[in-house]
Amino acid sequence: MHILQDAQAQALRQGLQGNVILPADDDYDSARQVWNAMVDKYPAAIVRCAGTPDVVQAVNFARQQGIRLAVRGGGHNIAGSAVCDDALVIDLSRMKAVQVDAGARRARVEGGATLADFDAAAQAHGLATPLGINSTTGVAGLTLGGGFGWLSRQYGMTVDNLDAAEVVTADGQVLQASASQNPELFWALRGGGGNFGVVTHFDFRLHPVGPEVLAGLIVYPFDQAKAVLQQYRDFMDRAPDALSVWTVLRQAPPLPFLPPEVHGREVVVLALLYTGEPEQGRALVEPLHGFGTPAGTHVGAMPYVAWQKAFDPLLTPGARNYWKSHNFSRLDDGLFDAVIAYVGKLPSPQCEIFFGAIGGATLRPAPGATAYAHRDARFVMNVHGRWDDPADDARGIGWARDYFKASAPFASGGVYVNFLTADEGERVQAAYGPNYARLAQAKRQYDPDNLFSSNQNIAPAAGEAMSFRDVLPL
Ligand SMILES: Cc1cc2nc3c(=O)[nH]c(=O)nc-3n(C[C@H](O)[C@H](O)[C@H](O)COP(=O)(O)OP(=O)(O)OC[C@H]3O[C@@H](n4cnc5c(N)ncnc54)[C@H](O)[C@@H]3O)c2cc1C
Repeated sequence: MHILQDAQAQALRQGLQGNVILPADDDYDSARQVWNAMVDKYPAAIVRCAGTPDVVQAVNFARQQGIRLAVRGGGHNIAGSAVCDDALVIDLSRMKAVQVDAGARRARVEGGATLADFDAAAQAHGLATPLGINSTTGVAGLTLGGGFGWLSRQYGMTVDNLDAAEVVTADGQVLQASASQNPELFWALRGGGGNFGVVTHFDFRLHPVGPEVLAGLIVYPFDQAKAVLQQYRDFMDRAPDALSVWTVLRQAPPLPFLPPEVHGREVVVLALLYTGEPEQGRALVEPLHGFGTPAGTHVGAMPYVAWQKAFDPLLTPGARNYWKSHNFSRLDDGLFDAVIAYVGKLPSPQCEIFFGAIGGATLRPAPGATAYAHRDARFVMNVHGRWDDPADDARGIGWARDYFKASAPFASGGVYVNFLTADEGERVQAAYGPNYARLAQAKRQYDPDNLFSSNQNIAPAAGEAMSFRDVLPL
């Protein structure tokens, strides 16, 4: 294990507003933990930065000392790339400020804010931008990979709502990135992950949402699964962008609106949110109640921030998690047969498979408009293997991989970079898709020595500098 010399630790602390956590410190073990308990890394030091100057100091220190860097936003990434053995971790958990300009419908969000931090500040003004479905996720990692959630069909990917960012690059410079300043860096940040530097601030556009929205769950018994999924597919073909409906297949949690005999049984859950006036949405969602005979329903007007936290109890940190994911541009009957077969043999009560419906506004930009390329993806599937006991690892991972293979013939070939696990290096190019070559050029320009390598990594392009015209589709 790499340990900093006393003099090195002293140099790192010199002038820092935040604090440095070393292996001998009492809080080292808690500070190195991330959401996924399968990740067990021992960094050389963790720097809890208090602002952009601290980030500059930490980046310069790592580069000058030849120490690997890792960057932690919310610590949620399934691959655990926020921490790394022997690395210097730039931990942004003290940088969570969110400033909202309600008149301009803009928000300035620090690099360590969670979705809960952002939603709370924006919803105080009845505003929001598309974010994910679990409020403890970091805004930074989610945005840098693309980002999607309940508002995406209406307002696009999270990156489609990003106006600008402040970035500390590998050479320690603080750059502003936007359509007019460092535009290639701005392009690369919108889907290229943490490959290009540490984002200290994001500037987002906001939209009027809620504060009350129509949202909730409709739960069907598993023996109706195929008919429900087929009707769901047809429904989503015609659904307006303002309505988002996801399907989740899992064992029913003990929710109060479900009869006790359903608890712990396999079910198909339709989870929905309508972004418009709740009363207007009621007629739109009515057909979803008639796909069969529901085991229970809980749909109504509720605060948007409450819905943004609705899944938090199922997604708490500290469990062992293993994911597999595909994008789909359509849902085939063969896929339904495969998912029904595998949900019929879940390896643990916490495992689930979901189909997140995007589409709508996420499909409209060209694949090269942002580094996030998957403008053909209408559904993102995640196989979420989850259990507590390490003894269950092999069985759970085997189940996820087997279903992943069984569902592959129906998938579009692309994958969401933020859902890749640590053992999927061979899928990184598919995750960046047709934008990989241009990203590699940007990587060479902004991080030629790959200082930022603890991520779904883009290798800096080799050879003479190419013009971006050479890699852009004409
Ligand atoms: C329970 C759960 C639910 C999820 N739901 C959704 C969802 O609905 N929609 C969705 O789009 N995604 C979702 N995700 C995936 C999520 O987008 C990724 O896990 C994302 O990486 C989390 O961001 P983070 O800041 O918490 O990650 P971290 O683990 O802190 O960071 C991951 C990587 O991002 C980079 N990074 C983080 N912060 C910065 C920064 N400030 N500057 C530069 N690079 C940085 C680094 O490379 C780092 O290795 C979910 C994840 C979980 C665990």
